Amino acid sequence: MNRRSTREILKQEINTVALKKNARFKVALIYPNRYYLGMSNLGIHAVYGLLNKRDDTVCERFFYEGQKQFLSLENASPLNSFDILAFSISYELDYFNALAFLRDAGISFPARECRVMPFIIVGGMVNGFNFLPLSGVSDALFLGEAEQSLTAFMDSLSAFSHVDTIAKKKLFLSEVSRHKGIFVPGISKADEVKPCFIEDLDEYPTSTKIITAATEFSDTFLVEISRGCARGCRFCVTGAVCAKFRSRTTDVLFDEIERGLQYTSKIGLVGAAVSDYPCMEPLLRFLNKKKAMISVSSLRMETVSADLLGALARSGQRTVTFAPETGSDELRYAINKRISNIEIMEKIKLAKECGIKKLKLYFMIGLPREQEKDINAIIDLAKAARDILPLRVNVGIFVPKPKTPFAKEPFADKRVLNSRLKFLKQKLIAEKNITLNTASIPEASKEAKLAFSDATFLDNYFKII
Ligand code: SF4
Repeated sequence: MNRRSTREILKQEINTVALKKNARFKVALIYPNRYYLGMSNLGIHAVYGLLNKRDDTVCERFFYEGQKQFLSLENASPLNSFDILAFSISYELDYFNALAFLRDAGISFPARECRVMPFIIVGGMVNGFNFLPLSGVSDALFLGEAEQSLTAFMDSLSAFSHVDTIAKKKLFLSEVSRHKGIFVPGISKADEVKPCFIEDLDEYPTSTKIITAATEFSDTFLVEISRGCARGCRFCVTGAVCAKFRSRTTDVLFDEIERGLQYTSKIGLVGAAVSDYPCMEPLLRFLNKKKAMISVSSLRMETVSADLLGALARSGQRTVTFAPETGSDELRYAINKRISNIEIMEKIKLAKECGIKKLKLYFMIGLPREQEKDINAIIDLAKAARDILPLRVNVGIFVPKPKTPFAKEPFADKRVLNSRLKFLKQKLIAEKNITLNTASIPEASKEAKLAFSDATFLDNYFKII
């Protein structure tokens, strides 16, 4: 990101924390991927808000746009001027980009034991199922939801006298290792640290902190209505590691929405399972009364209603996205997604009746026990859906993840994946009203290796930086 594009980005942001002169701690919040993705991620907003709310802390953001040197977005400060480098890792492939930040900050490896500052801390979705890859260079890793554990970490740091020697740092880290959800390499035992999850989400309302046009939901104020998912799809990390389904009460959401409407008329509802939200009716009534335009991050076909689809269509949302994952009922039930093709088609018809104009369907190949007939079934379901609404088909590749019920299943043979993707392309690409987007086999294969990698990841990759 050059200074010109940085200035342009800042100009269009609302609510950026510009300067906080008297803060005791400077935190670099590093999302090692593009600004567009990072600012679409409510977790980044939550951490940015949580840290900047503290009088003793200023937090500035860093993103990865392919550059080799990094300056903070807010004040163009270099990484070595920060006390804490806080990484948020959403995808395994972001580890490689994280290494570019470490190199620019002059962090060598293995050197944790002889480095006083900066602290290197790591959180994010990947830590939920495997926190080991960056453990060789990190001072603390956050497992689960960071609101409580990060607050505990900062409170401890604030109460501690100046951390200016290795001995004091060790003392401090041994103190924070007692907090739930914090793994301190060299002190904590990997199998004894439990992830931290918030019981009562109302205590931590989570919504957009900085509004910007350059995100997935442009100029939209995102409000998180729920976390977790109880549906138990066997491949899914969210279902396996994000604790049970929890939701916020409408009173809390109404306050957040009122706040968001001061900046924009667009409200985005966020959650792993938005349509499972138990108080959707009063929530939609409120949004309607406030004349808010709404959008949603994802919809569960099982629970999506005409009320919600109609509200989306009236707000100008033209496309809805569903994830059947498979074309055949048999394979779908085998992955524990309990909806049939007949029901899926009913929901697609309902979407059309409610005014939705386009459809996006997510499928996955390489699933355990998948056969050629399952690939044909994807083609059949896609064509049937396309007869109702113009369709974009996204084909992903199953990657086994630790802690999920499919953790021990293999990553499919690359030749089989190749021929199945080729077949799908042959059959769908020329079809009228169907566009096709397919995942990359090399990237999925790399992701599969990284998902189960351990601290030796750094041994291998620090050699090349
Ligand atoms: S419904 Fe979605 S979020 Fe829930 S377990 Fe299944 S794939 Fe995961």
